[in-house]
Formats: sequence, C-alpha cells, structure tokens
Amino acid sequence: MRKFLLVILIGLSIAGCQRWGDSPHQAHVKNLVAEGLQEEAQRWESSARYALSFPIGIQLPYAERRILNPEQSYRATAFVASLAMDQRVAITVEPSSNSRVPVFVDVFERQSGEPSFKRLASKKQDQHQLLFEAPRQGQYIFRIQAGYRARGLVNIIIASQPKYIFPVLNTHADAVKSFFGAARDGGKRQHKGVDIFAEQGTPVVSVSAGRVHKAATTPRGGNNIWIRQGEYSFYYAHLHDIHVQQGQTISTGQTIGTVGNSGNARTTRPHLHFGLYKGVRGAIDPYPLIDDSHSLLEQTITEIELSPRWVAVKARELNVRAGPKLKADIVQTLRRHQLVQVEAVMADWLRVSTAEGFHGFIAREFIQQPNPTRWQLDQPYLVMAEPEMQAPVLSRLDAGEKVLSLGLFGPYRLITFAGGLQGWATVETPLLSTGDKQNRNET
Ligand SMILES: [Zn+2]
Repeated sequence: MRKFLLVILIGLSIAGCQRWGDSPHQAHVKNLVAEGLQEEAQRWESSARYALSFPIGIQLPYAERRILNPEQSYRATAFVASLAMDQRVAITVEPSSNSRVPVFVDVFERQSGEPSFKRLASKKQDQHQLLFEAPRQGQYIFRIQAGYRARGLVNIIIASQPKYIFPVLNTHADAVKSFFGAARDGGKRQHKGVDIFAEQGTPVVSVSAGRVHKAATTPRGGNNIWIRQGEYSFYYAHLHDIHVQQGQTISTGQTIGTVGNSGNARTTRPHLHFGLYKGVRGAIDPYPLIDDSHSLLEQTITEIELSPRWVAVKARELNVRAGPKLKADIVQTLRRHQLVQVEAVMADWLRVSTAEGFHGFIAREFIQQPNPTRWQLDQPYLVMAEPEMQAPVLSRLDAGEKVLSLGLFGPYRLITFAGGLQGWATVETPLLSTGDKQNRNET
C-alpha cells in the first residue's frame, strides 16, 4: 500500500512539472511567442539548445563581465565544469547597469539518451544567485542567457562554496597538504580523506551537527572520533586529545578535540586527518566541501576594464585558447589585424568568438583597437548592420568609393563611412546569398 501511494505521488509530481513547472527560461520563450515574436523566440531557444552542445570548459572560480549587445544578446553561453559529489556552486549574475536585465541561469547534467541534457536547477527571476549542489561527481553545464534584446553589463561569477565550516580552528584550505586519493602504503591503498596541518593542540571543530558514534583510540587513527549526521559520517583522526564521548550530541563548530599526531602519524608533524563517508558510497572527497579559498572575486570583477566589441589582433599570430590560461589548448590561430568579437572581459583575458564560429579566450595584451586604413572599393559592396547573412542591409557602395577599413571578420570588412557610421561591407555573391553561414557556424 505504501509503495502504491509513493507511485501515485511520483506520478502527480511529474504531471505537476509538466503543467506548472516551466522554468523562467521556458516561460520567457512562451512570453515572446505570446507577444507575437515567434521567430525571435525560436532563435533565442535554438541558441540556448546549441550552447548546451558546445559548452566552454572552465575551472572554478570563474568570473567575467559580459557586455550585452541587443543585436546579439539572444546568444546563450554554456560553461562546463567538473564537480565533486555534494560540491556547492554559486552562480551569481549581477547586472551592473541601472537597467533591468533579465538573465536566465540553468544547470544541466549531460546524460545518455533522449533528451541528452537534464535540467537540474534554475535561477529564480527575482534572485541574483543560484546555489547548486552536485548530486554526484561529474560534469555539469551552467547555461547563461540574457532575455531577448537585453542591453547592459552583467557580471557573472561561478564559484565553489564550502558546504561545511573548516574543521581546524583559525585555519584555512591552504593548510591541506595531502589530498584525497593520494597513494598510501606504497600504493596498496588510497588516502581516504585530507590532511590538515596545524600546531599540536589547535582546536578541532565539528563541521556539522550530529552525534558521536565512536570516540576511541586505534592503531592507525590514534585518538579518533566518528560523528554521524543522517547518511554522513565524519572521521577526525590523529587527535592529541578528545573532548567528547560516545553518544553525545554535537553542534556545528563545537570543539571536539585538538590536533595531534597520534596513531600511525606519530612520526609526522601534527595534523588532522579528516574523512567524509556518505551512505553506501563510502569515502568521498571532502576537500571541495571545506575549501574556503574562493572569496575575493566579487570585489575585483567590477574593476575590470571594458573592451570595445570588436578588437584586432596586434601580434603577428595569436592563439585563441580553450581557457583563460596560457597552457590551455589552442582552439584557433589568428593573424595580425584579424577582428574578433568580444563576448566578455576578464582581468587579463577576453572571451571571444571568431569569424569561423570558434569560441575561446585571448590574452588582452595582444589585441588593440582596430586601426583604420583607407580602402577604395574595387567593386560594388553591400553594407550590413552585423557580419552575418540575416542582418539588415544598411546601404550599397559603388566601385571606386573610398571608406575607412577597420579589419576583416571572415568575408566581412568592418568599415566606417560617411557620418561616422559603422557597417560590414561584403560582396554580394551567390555563395553568401544561399544562407550557408548559419550552417557553417554550427559545424
Ligand atoms: Zn590522512
């Protein structure tokens, strides 16, 4: 009977999801359609789907300032990062202009089968932050998309947040010197926790509320304590002394003992061995759950200098990289004077898209504002509002006309012409008018 009831309840909640469970992102699509913007809604939604298939790999913490251009703001961006089981991530979206900018944040998990992306969480529209806890170890996709025709500046910060307080008083993540999974006993076993080094006698505090399951002295762990809370067991070992007793109820932050080097740590410097065990899964990596080292980003991001939307390569060659690091994989190599589109700025890097449809990062020191050079048209040209086929045509230029050229972006040349207007000159060819650009961008 109980099982039957459970089936009914699950059935109801799934039905509920379908009927009332639109995410803010899905609701935005419906609103656009209701306003008669079917095509725009479709474009916005297909960009969202496309982004999921080609996420940008990042390491946490990640921060960027994004410039929203109304012509291109439909573009969704997806980031992918590996998370440990139970790791908490805060995705913060702060519009830094006065205008209201709706920004949609959704977290997905990649899975086999149809549909291949499962949405796990979404930011509420009245909030600037989404807190997400990974249900298992794996790759998670954070998709960020501004509302249709949004304009302004948005700071995006994706950072790990500790789930628990740090287990050694007045000590931080930099005191962890030996990590989960490290070889032990010449590779016969693996380290099932982390070692936190501190002076002998430093208070060890319980990272959570719970109950003392065991407080004992054993050959390996020395003076050690097991604390249980729900399906979690916390193991504190090599203590100098123990301040609790079996069966005692513990609150978060309570001192339960002090750092020492008892048990098989007697020949090493005093440290706390801290282990975390979750139900039937056994030991899991506690480091991401106590790592308190990511907190400075938010203050510094607003000081990042902005960039024009189009920048030119200053170096003879410039590599577009998969991540904001000189060691990151090369996505594409650009030549001097080629233009790239800036999608977001970071302190020393720009996140860009290239004419060939690649996305990646370039070092700021190797780019410059496009340099105008005189250009006399050898044949008639069309001038478009954006370097893409679907963009509105601004004007036509005849052969022999003189304009200022700022650089090339694929088959498009950024020009400034009479009255300081900017546009993209392109030859009207049968190839371009077949509308193949969209497809080329998506391969
Ligand atoms: Zn250890």
